[in-house]
Amino acid sequence: MGVPQTIDVGSHVWLEDSELAWVDGIVFSVTGHDVEVQTSDGRTVVAKFSALHPRDAESRAGGVDDMTNLHYLNEAEVLHNLATRFQIDEIYTYTGNILIAVNPFQALPHLYEPAVMKRYKEAKMGEQAPHVFTIADIAYRAMITEGKSNSILVSGESGAGKTETTKNLMCYLAYLGGNSAAEGQTIEQQVLESNPVLEAFGNAKTARNNNSSRFGKFVEIQFDNVGRISGAAIRTYLLERSRVCQISDPERNYHCFYLLCAAPKEEIEKYKLGDPKSFHYLNQSNCYQLVGVNDANNYLATRRAMDVVGISEEEQEAIFRVVAAILHLGNIDFGNNEGDPESSVLKDDDSKFHLDMTAQLLRCDPESLEDALCKRKMITPDDVIKKSLDISGAIISRDGLAKTIYSRLFDWLVDKINVSIGQDPKSKCLIGVLDIYGFESFESNSFEQLCINYTNEKLQQHFNQHVFKSEQAEYTKEEIDWRYIEFVDNQDVLSLIEKKTGGIIALLDEACLVPKSTHETFAQKLYQTFKDHKRFIKPKLARSEFTIVHYAGEVLYQSEQFLDKNKDYVVPEHQNLLSASQCSFIQRLFPSLSEETSKPSKFSSIGSRFKLQLQQLMEILNSTDPHFIRCVKPNHVLKPSIFENLYVMQQLRSGGVLEAIRIKCAGYPAHKTFEEFLNRYNIIAPEVLTRSYEEKVACKWILEKSEITQYQMGITRVFLKGNQMAELDAQRARI
Ligand code: ATP
Ligand code: MG
Repeated sequence: MGVPQTIDVGSHVWLEDSELAWVDGIVFSVTGHDVEVQTSDGRTVVAKFSALHPRDAESRAGGVDDMTNLHYLNEAEVLHNLATRFQIDEIYTYTGNILIAVNPFQALPHLYEPAVMKRYKEAKMGEQAPHVFTIADIAYRAMITEGKSNSILVSGESGAGKTETTKNLMCYLAYLGGNSAAEGQTIEQQVLESNPVLEAFGNAKTARNNNSSRFGKFVEIQFDNVGRISGAAIRTYLLERSRVCQISDPERNYHCFYLLCAAPKEEIEKYKLGDPKSFHYLNQSNCYQLVGVNDANNYLATRRAMDVVGISEEEQEAIFRVVAAILHLGNIDFGNNEGDPESSVLKDDDSKFHLDMTAQLLRCDPESLEDALCKRKMITPDDVIKKSLDISGAIISRDGLAKTIYSRLFDWLVDKINVSIGQDPKSKCLIGVLDIYGFESFESNSFEQLCINYTNEKLQQHFNQHVFKSEQAEYTKEEIDWRYIEFVDNQDVLSLIEKKTGGIIALLDEACLVPKSTHETFAQKLYQTFKDHKRFIKPKLARSEFTIVHYAGEVLYQSEQFLDKNKDYVVPEHQNLLSASQCSFIQRLFPSLSEETSKPSKFSSIGSRFKLQLQQLMEILNSTDPHFIRCVKPNHVLKPSIFENLYVMQQLRSGGVLEAIRIKCAGYPAHKTFEEFLNRYNIIAPEVLTRSYEEKVACKWILEKSEITQYQMGITRVFLKGNQMAELDAQRARI
């Protein structure tokens, strides 16, 4: 990307640096391939050409709004531009039509107030500073004028600001398409209030974000033929189930548990709740309260939001009763029956109390609940017998039940919101907003990371194709001659994961169906199948780990829990218990299965279902005109004004921003209007100013005099290849 071939003594450069990513300096001497650079922080460093990028010493103090207007389009200049703007609270910057949003980690109300919305609505294109509102505005106007659906894809890593950005987008769309004349609850209010409800049940404090969404979300806002919001649909993806019963310091469980523990006294008494510290599902971590967050107020706010989205008082009571039941369920502990290690019974009176409370809240029979937790039906050739689970089996059974109830509750909420907001069957246009987890690579990566990274591969492909297409559209508009530019496609990683026969998901399903398979036999199968696949690596000495070479880097996956996590299976004992509940709300969460689907041969897997959901999402996205917002987290400490260069760089890389720039660089990265070009380079051929040349001819003259070939003349602009701009600057400097 933009490696300068003509670097002279005195050139301004960026030098690769292990701490700062890039540091600025001036070339002191050049010997063969070695360049001696004096850095601005007072060091003298000898580097290779490949470790350098040209630096624009004449760059504007406040940076540029659109990075494609950077004089040199390279990653060092991009990073410097973002950092410069961030320091003056300019958190939004374009790269062509991609918006980059750097999380300010401080409230910037002046950016979002109603007067600002009004200004953006009335502004002409390009008049206002970069903003999420502009992206929503462009999508809305394009939808109205072209009658075509649009989508806005928001991505970035955890804590980068996707959900906040999505909310800002939705507020602005509600402002544009709202129906102020309507009476009662408007659709746009319901759409907006769905956010706090879903956040209460689907968000939690994690190490990386105090309000982390533990699910992916696609909100489809439907519009009528005059551009008013007429319906909406929310789809969610892959809620993190394990969090319900397992958390580690300094994280928290889902917000709703703490909200309920801070509810008014009558509720606490009714549900026999109390200090969150007394519940096993909450006290595995020492974090109970969040700085600046009042759980008691949020409980009331969530109830009000539930009113707005059409969840009845009765339903709300049932929802929180279920939440309370899960807390009590987690406190049921087990011991051995009269020293028999193969058995499990309630451990003590305390466990008996919580069992009774759980049964009471779930409106089911306490003995049946105990049986469902501790025993399994076994079918022998002669008989059906009940076999006791051992202690660890009973704990797995208890936690499995908690996770199943919670995820069914979450799905119910989403369905309910959709039914209540309503779909507009006549709507022809929609704007979809996607808020979905970014690429993840941790010390330990499991099945969830594979699904998340698979999603990101899919979206990356969509993104590349779009960037690539729009770049070529620009060339066509300017009528320049372009050849097909190759870019590295990630289809091979996608096939590795999703291929119908023999892809990782398919092999995992196969392993789940074979009774004797383990994570090790599954891994062996992967090693064998993908021996020669260039995106798959078996680490040395590995028995069950594997590495996938993703577009954003290598990720090492531990396969230990892959088989368990892939099985989408509700124990029949749990199913029967809850479908017999006296509470119709709970009964509906566990509808009786028909004969057919309860047969064990009917295998359903989380991986395959996710793959299908993703395919459906891509189908919708492919039928819309996309807009991209890349959120960036400026630091690890979640504080304002701190900009960690390397960390930002890594996100620009995995968010595909650098890839987009690379695609641009593969073509003609520098587009200058004839006037801009003449202003900067007339010094190379001053004679052009004295003759009355047409601008285009004058530009051509300068280029020829500089012995630059392979440039292209558009209708209004000069198009230059990778380093030609640096070459011109070097010539200019020599004069
Ligand atoms: P996750 O993937 O974990 O859900 P996310 O990308 O959705 O993360 P957010 O929850 O949107 O991240 O943002 C994290 C926090 O950063 C917010 O709670 C808020 O404090 C702050 N933040 C994000 N965007 C903005 C903004 N535009 N203005 C002010 N603060 C912001
Ligand atoms: Mg989020």
